[in-house]
Amino acid sequence: MKLENMYQEIILDHYKRPHGKGLAEQFDSEVHHVNPTCGDEITLRVSRGEDGNFVVSYDSLGCSISQASASIMFDQINQHDFDSGAAAVDHLVSMLQRSVEPDEDILGDGIALAGVAQYPARVKCALLAWMAWKDAAIQAGAESLSGTKISSDSNKEQN
Ligand code: ZN
Repeated sequence: MKLENMYQEIILDHYKRPHGKGLAEQFDSEVHHVNPTCGDEITLRVSRGEDGNFVVSYDSLGCSISQASASIMFDQINQHDFDSGAAAVDHLVSMLQRSVEPDEDILGDGIALAGVAQYPARVKCALLAWMAWKDAAIQAGAESLSGTKISSDSNKEQN
């Protein structure tokens, strides 16, 4: 089987049987991100545990790339701390800009999205869920390992 076809299979598999889909009732922050050029939407919630790790839940609709990517995001980022999750998001962005070689240790099945880099219009589909996670984690009060609080312009939850 060609690598390209294998990647296609991985994406279709996540699309048909998404991991972690369904919103949790408890959460610290919720975001809703849309990709108007394709019609993809995601609602994503995170709750921050005492250990600093974020529990992720989401509900989404849209094209196969966006849906598969959300499922893969859940596999790679759920129950991770901010630094580890943000590193995965950054790596995905770099991979889709073709500035790094895909690293399976960081992205898991996300390496199957590497081919999306050839279709600039679809890059946003692949990034939607991951960007939503980053936004939600920041709004929930993400702190990097250095202890610096990360601020966000879109932070409406903070009192
Ligand atoms: Zn899409």
